[in-house]
Amino acid sequence: MKKLLLIIISLFVLSLSYAQFENMNNVQMLETMRDISRDVIRIPDIPGYKTLKCEFHIHTVFSDGPVWPTVRIDEAWSDGLDAIAITDHIVSHRRVNQGDHNTSYDIALPRAQELGIILIRGGEITKRMPPGHFNALFLKDANAIDVADPVASIKEAKKQGAFVLWNHPGWKGQQPDTCIWLDMHEELFQANLFDGIEIFNAREFYPVALDWCMDRDIPPFSNSDSHYAMLSHYDYEHSIRPMTLVFAEEATEEGIKKALFEKRTVAFFNNYLAGKEEYLEAIFHGSVEIIPKDFTKDDGKKLYLLRNNSDLDFILSGNMDEFSEGIRNLQIDGWNNVKLTRGRETVILAKPGKIDIAVLNLLTGSSDHLKTDLTFPE
Ligand SMILES: [Zn+2]
Ligand SMILES: [Zn+2]
Repeated sequence: MKKLLLIIISLFVLSLSYAQFENMNNVQMLETMRDISRDVIRIPDIPGYKTLKCEFHIHTVFSDGPVWPTVRIDEAWSDGLDAIAITDHIVSHRRVNQGDHNTSYDIALPRAQELGIILIRGGEITKRMPPGHFNALFLKDANAIDVADPVASIKEAKKQGAFVLWNHPGWKGQQPDTCIWLDMHEELFQANLFDGIEIFNAREFYPVALDWCMDRDIPPFSNSDSHYAMLSHYDYEHSIRPMTLVFAEEATEEGIKKALFEKRTVAFFNNYLAGKEEYLEAIFHGSVEIIPKDFTKDDGKKLYLLRNNSDLDFILSGNMDEFSEGIRNLQIDGWNNVKLTRGRETVILAKPGKIDIAVLNLLTGSSDHLKTDLTFPE
């Protein structure tokens, strides 16, 4: 009897749940759709400048990718970027672009304006090594740089006021065994014909190129060089797509252009930041808060919370006599490493005062990282 009652009740409940469909012709199942929202990547502004998240190397169907230009804007919006440059190859793709290298920019621009993404007109000067591939950014007319001679092409870009970027210097397609600065690169550099270098491209890192940037005061870049849809490339659950951080006075195309020519960039990929010490230091200290707690141990060490307000993990290294992590010790070669996980707090026991540290994932060279200090208040 009880069983029968249960069956009757469940049939009744079942009929109720079907009865909620009032429109029998078309039911909108909105709960299956992706949330329309934008990622917020927490990287602080630095004193005097806004930190803009930019990507200066993307392809579309108007060179050799399958992606429509407006989709690049939607991806950039969703991924939390402030600005992108679409940089289709400046080689003949007449079948799709009718010989007009401005097409992808012109199609993408209205969508960029709707979503508040700063879109920069660009093109990739695609030549054999040497000198290889160069992105021309802030072009006025991408068609004018479609000339066979690489130097003539770069010179035309420069005539238009372009910022020129040496792309993927260590790409195996052109430098199979090594990443070399060749005589022609020296000539171009001495003639002020290129202004920046990609040290991260797609999934690659060229540490030696970071040293070139640091030694010659060249701003470093990190770009996806994506040909396919971003979601088919990167593991969005565990990482953030490559991007170049630009420290600009204002969030406009002009502001970005000025910042690039004034060499205010940091390359960001795979939880590494690479660039000048002053920028890395400002980002680190802008991200980490030190909060004293009311507890002191017998040895004079006090308890502090280190709160990481950014979306970067910081790997700190310091002298173990001076501080030790409360929760766990990761001891490497007599040094104490502490991980400040993104968006979380860590407990630290330290003597009040200044302690020298290194931040291992903030790179100032192929084998150098940021050295700074933490001040633990009394
Ligand atoms: Zn290329
Ligand atoms: Zn490319």
